[in-house]
Amino acid sequence: MHTEQYSIILEEVGIRPTATRLLIYGTIAGLTDTFSLGNLEDLLPSIDKSVIFRTLTLFHEHHLIHGVDDGSGSHKYCLCHNHGHCLNEEAHCHFYCEHCQKTYCLDKDSIPPIRLPEGFVAKKVSYVVKGICSECARKSRKQ
Ligand SMILES: [Zn+2]
Ligand SMILES: [Zn+2]
Ligand SMILES: [Zn+2]
Repeated sequence: MHTEQYSIILEEVGIRPTATRLLIYGTIAGLTDTFSLGNLEDLLPSIDKSVIFRTLTLFHEHHLIHGVDDGSGSHKYCLCHNHGHCLNEEAHCHFYCEHCQKTYCLDKDSIPPIRLPEGFVAKKVSYVVKGICSECARKSRKQ
């Protein structure tokens, strides 16, 4: 994808596509799995940390990125592949590796529909599979 397409995505959700925002969005779009604020700061050393933080908050408010609660207590995010048009129930599942603490997106697996009891209102749904990722499993076999 190119910068022009990123500006269309930002404009569609009502965010003015400044050069910095486009750079941050482009960086996020290049990641295949979840990331933390710290990861982005490492990837974008030229951008002020408070700007990265504010931009992430803005993207999150406009649903361009999903907040991922993997149970580890650290704030992680991942790109919304529907560019902010996700319904809760379309959100995908995640895999948390207990060994390297990395959280992978299982993009092809949507969160299965849950039948809530009458009168219950869902606000946030997360579906996290915990275990050992293939990378860590491979390394431990070698030892
Ligand atoms: Zn989404
Ligand atoms: Zn791992
Ligand atoms: Zn994800």
